[in-house]
Formats: sequence, C-alpha cells, structure tokens
Amino acid sequence: MAGIKTEEKIQEGSIYGQIVSMGHEQLVFCYDEPTGLKAIIAIHNTVLGPSLGGTRMWNYASEEEAITDVLRLSRGMTFKAAISGLNIGGGKAVLIGDPKLKTEAYLRRLGRFIDSLGGRYITAEDVNMKTRDMEYIAMETSYVTGLPEIKGGGGDPSPVTAYGTYMGIKAAARKAYGSDTLSGKKILVQGIGQVGKHLVEYLKKEDAVIAISDIDQKKLSEVVSWSKAEIVAANQVYDYPMDIYSPCALGAVLHDESIPRLKCDVIAGAANNQLKDEERHGQMLLDYGILYAPDFLINAGGLINVYAEYQGGYKKELAYQQAENIYATCLEVLHTAYRENETPQQTALKMALERISSITKVKLSY
Ligand code: NAD
Repeated sequence: MAGIKTEEKIQEGSIYGQIVSMGHEQLVFCYDEPTGLKAIIAIHNTVLGPSLGGTRMWNYASEEEAITDVLRLSRGMTFKAAISGLNIGGGKAVLIGDPKLKTEAYLRRLGRFIDSLGGRYITAEDVNMKTRDMEYIAMETSYVTGLPEIKGGGGDPSPVTAYGTYMGIKAAARKAYGSDTLSGKKILVQGIGQVGKHLVEYLKKEDAVIAISDIDQKKLSEVVSWSKAEIVAANQVYDYPMDIYSPCALGAVLHDESIPRLKCDVIAGAANNQLKDEERHGQMLLDYGILYAPDFLINAGGLINVYAEYQGGYKKELAYQQAENIYATCLEVLHTAYRENETPQQTALKMALERISSITKVKLSY
C-alpha cells in the first residue's frame, strides 16, 4: 500500500497548516462543561526542556483569534527561553472567556488538564491571571510556577521583567550613544502597568528625563506623584520627541504608520511582539536609523524568575543576577546585527535557533 503523503493533505491556513508553518509540536483543546472552561494549550518546542509559558485569559472574539494568539505566543516563548540560556521550551495556554468568570473549580479543572500532559507544559501567570490563580491550579498539578512569595514561590515576575528591560535599555544606549548612562536621556514609557511602573523607578534613580503614557488616569496620577514624569497623551506617543521609546503596554505598536512618525534613536521595551511584522518592520527601523532591542530578549526577566522558582530553592538575588545578563546578550546581539547588516530581531532569532539546533544534536548523540 502506498504511504500517505501527509504534507499534501495539509492546507495552508488550516489549523494543521498553522502548526506546521510555525513549527509546533502539539496543540491541545480542553473543554469542561460544568465550569465553562475553554482552554487551548500550545506546545511549540521541547528540545531544551519542558515547555513553559503563562496562561492568558481573554474574551477572544473568535476561536480562530485564540488559536492564532496561543500559537504565536508559545513560539515566542521558545526563542525567549533559548536566547536567555534557559533549559526550557516554549508553551502557552489561553482561556477563552471573561476573566470575571474564573472560579476555584474552573482553575482547578485547568490544573487537571495541565497535569494530564505529564510535565510537557508548565504554566505561570500572564494577562488577567494572578498568583492566587496559580495557587488554585497548584492544587491539581505540580506543573505550575509563579506562586506567591509567602508560599515559597517567586511572586509576581513583573519587577524582574522591569529590571531585565532596564538592562536592555542600558545596553541599547551603549550601542547608540557609546555610553550606557541614561542620565539626561528623554525616555517615554508607554504603559505604566506592572512592568512599566517598576521600570520608571529604575529610570528615575538614573536621572533620566521620564515621560509616561497610559489610558488609565488613576495609574498616571499615582506614578506622576512620585516620579514627576511628564504625561503624554496616548495618541501623541508616536509624534513625541524623545531619545528612547519604551513600549510596555501593547504588542504590534511598530508598523507602517507609526515608524515614519517616531522621533527617537532607540526602541527598547517590555511589550511582547512589538513589531507588527518581524521582517518588514525590523528592516524599516534599520532603514530609519532607529536602534531596536528585540523585545523577546529584553523582557525575559519574568521567565527567568518563574523558571528559577520551578527549579526549586528560589532565591530572588539569583533571579536578578541572571536577568542582569540581558545587558551582555543584548549588546552582543546589537554588535553582531550591525556588523552583519541584519536587523537585531533577525540576529536574536538566529542565536536562539542556533542554540536549539546545537542542543538537538547533543540530545541525539550517545
Ligand atoms: P499590565 O496590564 O499590568 O500593564 C499594561 C499597561 O498598559 C496598563 O496600565 C494599561 O492601562 C496600559 N495600556 C493599555 N493600552 C494602552 C495604550 N494604548 N497606551 C498606553 N497605555 C496603554 O501589563 P504588564 O504586566 O505591565 O505587561 C506589559 C507588557 O509587557 C505586556 O505587553 C506584556 O505582555 C509584556 N510582558 C510582561 C511581563 C511581566 O512579567 N509582566 C513579562 C514579559 C512581557
């Protein structure tokens, strides 16, 4: 009997088509009627170790939107872990629904689904998930991290993410200006949430000239009260003259319309997937003479923190020490990119892929 040619059966744009084109290993659909749980878990790559990535709860407009999100985010986790030197792979979970619907039973049911994967996927917090939610998940599985400090966990990873981002900003400044001092540099932080507000604290200590933007007036007033930062309206960010733009709110902020308007030398922030199109907009920034520090590299502090916790014997100082390495890696990426005439995003991805490929060979050899 003739063998089945699988590749001929996969249609572009279908779910299998997306999995194949993005290189995923597994996509798991979970449903529980009594609690209303609708979860999708994506495992992108487990060459370096079990996949790790947060659970995001969102009122997705459609199942397709949720699938695209979980596939894209889990792939990003693979590269983030690889370039950060961590022995974990990329995974992510999304929960479809209104975050207000979360109950203990709902989260414990999710925990049981995660447990059924036998450790191939480890979860943590992401958008609309808190350390308390991780505690419920932990009642059903040990494949969870990001537990509260009081319970021996690493707590909220955002401060470590902010510290790593700060290291990335300093490395980018060194490449752009020849010095990593941020004193006197005008830096706009877009989004002063969990990460952004901690980042403002670091920038203030260095006497940077800080501007902030957010859609939440309460947060703006709170941060202005101690930082004395200038407030920039959300719709003025792309036209605001600044040295460094630090996107810490949303993804896809760098696109055809925003890039030509930007008046900055450097972009370095914590938001995931800042480039709307990695290739096109990475190249556009290079052409406009704007230095871009790859987001998945400089926002890895949170992952470093939850991984440190998962390994056991969590020590906060060690997590911060490891996040400090982002400075050296970022500088290496930027030097290599400009030497090789490629975008920093391309260089960082190449470095991550090289690590995965070399460890694949190690694992296949005797
Ligand atoms: P958060 O939800 O606490 O903060 C986001 C902030 O952005 C909020 O204050 C929100 O009001 C603001 N915002 C939303 N839309 C805006 C707009 N149009 N203009 C200006 N501000 C706007 O989230 P966070 O945990 O601080 O994460 C920020 C970003 O960093 C996200 O993209 C997240 O995926 C990424 N990230 C976070 C971590 C982490 O450890 N928390 C780790 C890696 C990456």
